[in-house]
Amino acid sequence: AIILGLESSCDETAAALVTSDRRILAHALAGQAEAHAPFGGVVPEIAARAHVDKLMPLIEQALADSGVTLSDVDAIAATAGPGLIGGVMVGLVTGKALAHATGKPLIAVNHLEGHALSPRLADPDLAFPYLLLLVSGGHCQLLLVEGVDRYRRLATTIDDAAGEAFDKSAKLLGLPYPGGPELEKLAATGDAASVPLPRPLLGSSEPHFSFAGLKSAVARAVHSGEHRPQDIAAAFQQAVVDCLIDRTGRAIKRAPGATALVVAGGVAANGSIRAALTGLAAHYGLPFVAPPMWLCTDNAAMIAWAGAERFAAGLTDTLDVPARPRWPLDPDAETVRGAGV
Ligand code: ATP
Ligand code: MG
Ligand code: FE
Repeated sequence: AIILGLESSCDETAAALVTSDRRILAHALAGQAEAHAPFGGVVPEIAARAHVDKLMPLIEQALADSGVTLSDVDAIAATAGPGLIGGVMVGLVTGKALAHATGKPLIAVNHLEGHALSPRLADPDLAFPYLLLLVSGGHCQLLLVEGVDRYRRLATTIDDAAGEAFDKSAKLLGLPYPGGPELEKLAATGDAASVPLPRPLLGSSEPHFSFAGLKSAVARAVHSGEHRPQDIAAAFQQAVVDCLIDRTGRAIKRAPGATALVVAGGVAANGSIRAALTGLAAHYGLPFVAPPMWLCTDNAAMIAWAGAERFAAGLTDTLDVPARPRWPLDPDAETVRGAGV
């Protein structure tokens, strides 16, 4: 089957055509970094307007690039949440309109399911169940991915997400938005050992993550004027790596059935984090799977692929499906304390 995927939940507008046998026929993407940069973060109203301007041209571009017409498409998958509600509505309403006009089924995709299943687009051998570290701008979770639509959340952050910590720390260091990749570049030239920073919840018996205290320590280190920015960046990145490895190691010991350790989400584009997770997986004798960098940050190929997986499972939606600003993957999510849902 051929699936058209649409993504508009944050500050990337994207359209892609992906087949159920993992061929990426086309993927078109427009970022909005310049529009938001003067404000140091994503402005929801600016984002929603940009999605309105860019989505239809990107859909047309993806169709032209692939040589596929709308009548060749078998289903239309659109992100229906979680995310900035204005943007989510632009993509979902566009998907509904296309589905209505063509008579093709609509698939409402959870953006997090897009991230969670993206490693299976890149790696045909990745089988359920796998242990997933989902690290993105809004989320930091460990999930047992048991199947399509079957997620068991083992841990979440009790305050900031990992990407949020990268972005806030980058801002404190005076780096331009979006800060994560900029901080990684700066860290490459620094000495992590020269700035002592905390590692919240390291070794804790509870499963969760915490990054707020680390971010506050970065603020103190910056304001003290005693350290070089590259050293603070390197120390911050090392602290995040240590926390992620500690928490993920704890989860591996409690998920004996997992076929692989998998990482996904925008922060999975970070080279130090990928390298450390590679070592951790090897230590426990697990295969390590990470999607290519471009598939880690927001894109529509992962939404089309999640759509393909749901379509194969017979999971389609009606045109009255709602846009959801909050939408946990795990049905038991409300019982886990803290934010990060
Ligand atoms: P969510 O998926 O939780 O709704 P989002 O869609 O905004 O949030 P993603 O696009 O998946 O998040 O990821 C963006 C995040 O990834 C940002 O916080 C960004 O700083 C971070 N990021 C991207 N590249 C890197 C990198 N190389 N190192 C560290 N962080 C990075
Ligand atoms: Mg983004
Ligand atoms: Fe995302």
